[in-house]
Amino acid sequence: MDLARWAHLPFGSWPWRPRVEGMGDAERLLAGGKPTKACLEWAVVSGDVEGEVRERLLIYGVLDVCKAHGRPDVYTGFRRMLVERPAMSERDLALALADPDLALVAQFVRSAYRPAPAEALSGGNAVVCGGCGNLWVLDQSGQRRCQEWDCPDPSAEGWRLPAAEGVVWLSRELRMFVSGPGRVELRIAQKLERAGLTVTLWPDFDACDLLPAEVPWAADVKSWLNPVRLAWQLTERPFAPPPGSERGFIVIAAEQTTGRPEYLRALRSHCAWLKGQSRVRAVTEKAYVEQVIRRAREGAAR
Ligand SMILES: [Zn+2]
Repeated sequence: MDLARWAHLPFGSWPWRPRVEGMGDAERLLAGGKPTKACLEWAVVSGDVEGEVRERLLIYGVLDVCKAHGRPDVYTGFRRMLVERPAMSERDLALALADPDLALVAQFVRSAYRPAPAEALSGGNAVVCGGCGNLWVLDQSGQRRCQEWDCPDPSAEGWRLPAAEGVVWLSRELRMFVSGPGRVELRIAQKLERAGLTVTLWPDFDACDLLPAEVPWAADVKSWLNPVRLAWQLTERPFAPPPGSERGFIVIAAEQTTGRPEYLRALRSHCAWLKGQSRVRAVTEKAYVEQVIRRAREGAAR
C-alpha cells in the first residue's frame, strides 16, 4: 500500500529512494492510478513488457503482409491512420476497413482499435481531443480532459462521438509507441515539405522514420521524457541509418528539449553506443530541420 502511494509522489519526495539514475526528482510513476509515461519508459528499458510485445506483433504483422505484396504505400497508409485517427466511431472504422488501400491489412487495423473505456464515455458521448485526436477521459476530480502524453493542445475540444453508435480507440501501447512519436514525425515532415523538400515517411518498410529525398539524412525520431532512459534504450537497440542514406540522426522531439538545455548533453554522456558513432548524431528537432533545409539550399545552389 505504501509503495502504491509513493508511486503517485514525485520521486524526489519518496521517504526512501533506491539509488538509480534515469529517474528525475519531479517524475512520478503513477497518476490517478494509471502508469505515467515515465513509468512506461521504465517498463520498456527494463525488458520487454507485455504491451510492447503486443504492439510489436501488430506492427511486424503489418510489415510482413505489406512486404510480401510489395506495398510500401499500404504500410505508410496504415501508420498514418494510427497517427491521424487514433479514435473514431465504429462506423468510421468500418468505412476505413472497406477502403481498398487498407484491405490488405484490415484484420490488423481491426485489432489495433478497442472499444472505448467507460471513463471516456460519460454523458452518452466521447469527446475527441482537438490537440491530438485521442479521447478525453475523466480525471480524479471528475472532469474530462486529454490525458495523452505529449498532447500539443490538451484543452482544445474537438468534436463529440455518440456512445450509442460505438466508439473505438487505439490500444495504450500503440498510442504511446506509434501515434505519439508519429505526430512528431508528421510535424517534421510538414516543416521540410513547406521548405520545398520531398519527404518519405517510414521508407523501405520502416528502415527509419523519415528520409528527405534531396538530403539523404535519415531520422529516427524520439520523444522520451528522460534522456538517461533513452540512452539505455538506444544502446540496447541502436539506430542503423538505412542503405542509401548519407548520415543518421536521432532527432529529439521539441516537447522534450524545450526549456531543458541539458537533455542532449545527458543523452550523449549516458549513451555508450552514441559516443562510438561517426555517422549518427543526436540533435533537437529544430536543429535537424534547419540543417536539412540549409543543406538542401546549398545543394540547389551548386
Ligand atoms: Zn490531446
